[in-house]
Amino acid sequence: MENPLYDALFAPLAGSDLPFLYLEDGTTLSGDAFHRRVGRYANALGVAGVSAGARVVVQATKSPHMLAVYGAAVTAGAVFLPLNTAYTAQELEYFVADCGATLLLVDPAQAAALAPLAAKLGVRLETLGEGGSFDAIAEGCADSFTAVPRTEDDLTALLYTSGTTGRSKGAMLTQRNLLSNAQALVDLWQFTPDDVLLHALPIFHTHGLFVASNVVLLARARMIFLPKFDIEQVFAFLPQATTMMGVPTFYTRLLDDPRLSRETVGHMRLFVSGSAPLLSETHVAWSDRTGHAILERYGMTETNMLTSNPYEGARRAGTVGKPLPGVELRIADPDTGAELAQGETGMIEVRGPNVFKGYWQMPEKTAAEFREDGFFMTGDLGLIDDQGYVNIVGRAKDLIISGGYNVYPKEVELVLDDMPHVLESAVIGLPHPDFGEAVVAVLAANGHAPDIAQIEQALRDKLARYKQPKAYIVLPELPRNTMGKVQKAALRKQYETKFK
Ligand code: ATP
Ligand code: MG
Repeated sequence: MENPLYDALFAPLAGSDLPFLYLEDGTTLSGDAFHRRVGRYANALGVAGVSAGARVVVQATKSPHMLAVYGAAVTAGAVFLPLNTAYTAQELEYFVADCGATLLLVDPAQAAALAPLAAKLGVRLETLGEGGSFDAIAEGCADSFTAVPRTEDDLTALLYTSGTTGRSKGAMLTQRNLLSNAQALVDLWQFTPDDVLLHALPIFHTHGLFVASNVVLLARARMIFLPKFDIEQVFAFLPQATTMMGVPTFYTRLLDDPRLSRETVGHMRLFVSGSAPLLSETHVAWSDRTGHAILERYGMTETNMLTSNPYEGARRAGTVGKPLPGVELRIADPDTGAELAQGETGMIEVRGPNVFKGYWQMPEKTAAEFREDGFFMTGDLGLIDDQGYVNIVGRAKDLIISGGYNVYPKEVELVLDDMPHVLESAVIGLPHPDFGEAVVAVLAANGHAPDIAQIEQALRDKLARYKQPKAYIVLPELPRNTMGKVQKAALRKQYETKFK
C-alpha cells in the first residue's frame, strides 16, 4: 500500500547516517535519527487519539521536533496544520475551533495559559520538544511505523493564508498538490543530494514548509535549520550552505551588512526570493555586490508555487518569471473572465495539479474563486510581458479607484521609490468624499526626510494627474508581517479618516 508523500519525502531518510539537519548549536541530526523521530511521533499521534484524516494543530517554536510532527502527520495520514507563533490565544481559538482539531501541540511554556481554551474546545493539548508531554508519550513508543495508505487526492495539510487582505482562510492541500510542486521545483532549481539549504524561514508558512523543506526532502539534500533569521547565525553558517531561500527582507538586511561580499557568498549556487515583491533595486544591488542574480518566484498558500525565473537564462528584476511546468497561467478580465491579450493587465488565473482543493468549510467562497473551467482566481493582478515573464502589478484588493479611474499602486510606487531619501513606498486608497478613494503615498525614510514639494513637482511630469498622490505620510519603515509582506490593509485602517 502506498502513501505517495511519505514514500517520496520521508521514507528515503531511513537508514541514512548522513546529516539531514545542521542545527544552531553545531550538532547534526542524521537522516535516520530524524526518520526514527518521525516514526515515534507517528505512534504517539495514535496514542493521543489522532486517526487518519484528523487535524493536528501545531503552534510552536520552529525546531526539528516541529518538522518531525509534519513528517509524522504525513506518515499517519493525519492533516498537518501549523500556525503562526504570533497568533494570540484568542486567534488560536478561532483556528482550532474552525478546523475541529483533535490535537493541539504547543511549546511547554504555553501549556498553562492554553489549558482552559483546550478544555473549552474539547481538544487534547500536549507540549512539544525537550521535556514536553508529547515527547514523553513518544519516548514510550516504537520508532518504526508503517505508513498509513493514502492516495494523492487525500488531504495532507490545512494551511491558513497570511491574512494580508482579510481573515485567514484554510487552504486544503492534497498530497498531489505538494508532491507535484516539489517535483517541479527540484527539477527547475536543480537540487541534488549535494545541496545544503540555509533554512531561516518559519515553517508555519508555505515558503519555509513546502517550498524549502519539501524540496530538500525530495532532493535528498540537507538543510541548516535555524530557528529564525539572525544575521550573525546566517553569516556563521553561510560557508556550509549551497543555497538559500528567503523573503525580500532577508536580502535587504544582508545588503545592509558590510560583511556581504563576493567572497562571503562566492561558493553559493542559488539564492531564491519570494512571498513578497523583491524591489528591482534590491535585485540590482545584490548582483553588484555579490555577482549573484537572485531568482525570484511567485506563489501562494492555495496554489503552491506558480512561476519562477529561470535557473539558466535571464533572471529579470521586477518579474516573477514564467509558469512552472504543469502550471497553466492566464491573465483574464477580472469581471468577465475573458482571457486578455499579451501585455494587458488583469487577474492572474491558474490551473494545475498544484492548485488546492478548496477553502476549509467555505464551499461558497471556494466556488466564487474558481472559474467554470477550473481556473483559480489568485486575487493578484499582473501581465505577461513580451518575453513571457509574469509581472505582478499588485493585489486586486489594493487596486485604487479614484474619481472613476483605476490606479495600480505599483506603478506609482516604482516612481516614488526613485525619489531622493525614499527607501520604499506603499501607495493606498483612502475613502474620500469627492473621489471615492484618494491616492495616498506612504513613504519609508530614515535619517533624511524626503522633500515632499520636490516629489510632487517631479511626479507632475511622470504620472497622470489622477495617479498623483493627494497626501503623503512619512514613516520610519513600512509595517510588515513575519513574511515581509507590507500590511496595506492595516495602513488603510489606520488612516481611514484622513479625508473625512
Ligand atoms: P490572504 O490571502 O490571507 O490575504 P496572503 O495572500 O498574503 O494573505 P499568502 O498565501 O501567504 O497569503 O501569500 C500569497 C501572496 O503573496 C500572493 O497572492 C502574492 O500577492 C504575494 N506574493 C508571493 N510571492 C510574490 C512575489 N514574488 N512578488 C509579489 N508578490 C508575491
Ligand atoms: Mg492570498
